[in-house]
Amino acid sequence: MSASAKTEAPARTSVQSLALRWLPTALTVVAVAVLVAWPSITNFYSYNASYYNGIVASAAISAVLTISLNMSMGYAGLLSMMHTGLQLVGGYAVAYTTVNAGLPWYLGMVLAMALGAVFSGLVLSISLRATYLYFGMITLAANLIMVETGNAWEAVTGGVTGIVGVAPGGLSKVQFYYVTIAVLGIVYIIQRNLVRSGVGRAVMAVKESPDTASALGIRPTRTKMLMFTLAGAIAGLSGSMYALQLGFINPDVGILDNGLVFFVGLFLGGIGTLVGPVIGVTVIATVVELIKDHARYTTLILGCTLLLAMMIIPKGIVGTWRASKLGRPAEGEDTEPTGGLPESVLPGAVDPDVPALEGRGLVKHFGGVKAVDGVDISVAAGSVHGIIGPNGSGKSTTVASLTRFLKVDSGEVLICGEPAPDKPFAVAERGVTRVFQVPHLFAQQSVMDNVLAGMRRRERYGVPSAILRLPRYRDRDATSREEAAQLLAFAGLSGRSEQLAGSLSHGQKRLLEVVRAVASGPRVLILDEPATGLVPAEIDALTRLCRAFRDHGLAVVLIEHNMDFVMKVCDELTVIDSGKVIACGPPAEVRADPAVLEAYLGRPDLVEDLS
Ligand code: ADP
Ligand code: MG
Repeated sequence: MSASAKTEAPARTSVQSLALRWLPTALTVVAVAVLVAWPSITNFYSYNASYYNGIVASAAISAVLTISLNMSMGYAGLLSMMHTGLQLVGGYAVAYTTVNAGLPWYLGMVLAMALGAVFSGLVLSISLRATYLYFGMITLAANLIMVETGNAWEAVTGGVTGIVGVAPGGLSKVQFYYVTIAVLGIVYIIQRNLVRSGVGRAVMAVKESPDTASALGIRPTRTKMLMFTLAGAIAGLSGSMYALQLGFINPDVGILDNGLVFFVGLFLGGIGTLVGPVIGVTVIATVVELIKDHARYTTLILGCTLLLAMMIIPKGIVGTWRASKLGRPAEGEDTEPTGGLPESVLPGAVDPDVPALEGRGLVKHFGGVKAVDGVDISVAAGSVHGIIGPNGSGKSTTVASLTRFLKVDSGEVLICGEPAPDKPFAVAERGVTRVFQVPHLFAQQSVMDNVLAGMRRRERYGVPSAILRLPRYRDRDATSREEAAQLLAFAGLSGRSEQLAGSLSHGQKRLLEVVRAVASGPRVLILDEPATGLVPAEIDALTRLCRAFRDHGLAVVLIEHNMDFVMKVCDELTVIDSGKVIACGPPAEVRADPAVLEAYLGRPDLVEDLS
């Protein structure tokens, strides 16, 4: 597998690599220079400068909204049909502030952001349990409500005609142009800094798999709320600028039809990419300008563009470039495992006299299936505790009960002698981290970013530090990267840290998942059949990892079928059959236990391993 991946990897000359590395910077510099010089350019070449300035200002405002849409849909995976409604709310905010209250326009922008955040927060909080499509429908309903409230509440919104005379008092057209460009720049940097920080990695982890995120101690609800309200604030901001640019606001601004251009722009440019929204909006603004003599076909053409884009380049311009041979990160190479587990990742040892993790009388039935039927298990600190048993005997269900991914019918769970909290992320926060039997890697992110996502629980910076890149963020980020590099070296994956996780071999993916879990700094690491599909060198790395944990006074729970591996690393074994514990003790004793041999009689292969 890795051999074929290698032949696919683009062979790049050093000139090519250099060009690729500097390409984004070069393009950014050119784009910024053109935008800054634009009013001078139009002034020099055109009798109609303010028209052309207005086009770019409007595109910048659209790009701000599209970035907001990208933050919700692209990064947080929240299908939002209410972005035009949020724009409308932002428009009312600035109209009310400037026209009715006679206050400066920038205060209107602040109010627009606050209202955008509040509205999106409200909508998210009533639809937390909704799946993707239902969430989309709820936002659609919210959009209708916002528009119709605008129509009906004449005293505040001016009804159908809306509010006129909205203007950035004291600013010339050209000055306002620079305001829109500056806001676009700031919003772009906010998006970039956030996405590339631990906050963004948490958001993407929740989008990929809320369960995996929870197992790493990331709070799904809080994380979604954070990103969606921030996106809402930015949508409100865009709406306020839109009203200032137009000179009025009315409910038509909020109707869903007007959202078409943002959706087309986002999908055309590349959803879930940083520059995609800006590029998409630029392309559309250009097209709309070129066909302005046939304006009544604009919607038709945009519709066709979206359809064609979805068919030909479903990943959008940026996404397609990234997936291409030139744009893709080069495949790495296998490296020898080196170094030990970084001490800074491991938490302080736990009290050796109290079990690190304990389940008492756990019962979990699925209808008539007694998956777990009164299991007692006690995992000592400073040990590797194996759980073995035939397929379907209830091992994974036991672990899911211990970590609260399943609600038990009865029984207690104790972590270091104290009752376990009842949410999976809270269990992870208390230091019990689980790696699932079915792999859940963040396939579209680099190997390094996967490990960094695991670090999020121990990173103590929030959104402001991430956006402003304060020292608090920079120090922690440097530490995280250093620790992640050490972990990857330990697992023999350092040569592959920049490649996409999805392009690893099966064994490497399993190992990476374990490394990511270790990155969260667990006191109890639960591995569900980690050695399946691993080559001997990878099993070696796993063995060293388990021993490092034990020697550090921490605990590993190991569900495994590979008996060689189990016998080599486990200090204690619990054997489960049909949801019940049939034996428990040191491996040597368990292996001779008649009940165990009996349970394994149906599996002669395993009996051979046992004896
Ligand atoms: P093991 O990990 O030991 O192979 P599991 O804990 O996955 O076994 O499963 C134990 C039993 O519970 C099996 O009979 C399985 O079919 C059943 N089971 C597991 N999860 C569910 C579920 N979510 N719904 C219904 N039955 C389940
Ligand atoms: Mg299982």
